[in-house]
Amino acid sequence: MGKKALINIDYTKDFIAPHGALTCGKPGQDIEEEVCRITREFIQNGDYTVFAVDVHEKGDHHHPETKLFPPHNIRGTEGRSLYGSLIDVYEQNKSEPHVYFMDKTRYSAFAGTDLEIKLRERGITEVHLIGVCTDICVLHTAVDAYNKGFTIVVYKNAAASFNQAGHEWALGHFEGTLGASVV
Ligand code: ZN
Repeated sequence: MGKKALINIDYTKDFIAPHGALTCGKPGQDIEEEVCRITREFIQNGDYTVFAVDVHEKGDHHHPETKLFPPHNIRGTEGRSLYGSLIDVYEQNKSEPHVYFMDKTRYSAFAGTDLEIKLRERGITEVHLIGVCTDICVLHTAVDAYNKGFTIVVYKNAAASFNQAGHEWALGHFEGTLGASVV
C-alpha cells in the first residue's frame, strides 16, 4: 500500500466560529476535537499533513464565489485563522517538514495549487479528508482526488456543513460514486 496524507480543509474561524462570515455553526464546532485528534495523529506518525485553507482578496470581483457567498477568509483577517484548538496543533507542529499550510482559492484543494506535485513527489497514493464543508470544499477536493487516481478516506465525524442534507448526501457520494472509505 502506498503512503497516505491528511488534507485538513478550511477549519477556520469564518467557517466555524459562532459569528464566522460563512459559518457551519454547531455542526462545525462539534467536530473540533475529532479534527484535532486526527491531525495530531497524522503529524505524530510522520504522515504528510496538509492544511488547505481558502483565501480570498478583499474586493476581488472576478472571483466566481463573489456572486454566491458573503466575503470570507479574506487574506490577513482574523476570520482566516484556524479555529479553536486546531491553532495549537498547527502552531506546535508548523516547523515539521511534513506539515504543509497551503492557500487555495477554489473549493478543491487541487485547483490551481501545487498539492498534486507535493503528494506525487512523496509517493502518496491515499488522501484522507477532514474539515468543512462536506458538500462543498471536501466534496470538490474528493472529486479531483478521484479523477487523479488517489484512494480516498473521509472521516464522517470530522466533516461538517451548514447544510445537513448536503452533508449526508456528500457522505453517500464519497462512498457510492468516488469509491471512498467513509470511516
Ligand atoms: Zn471561498
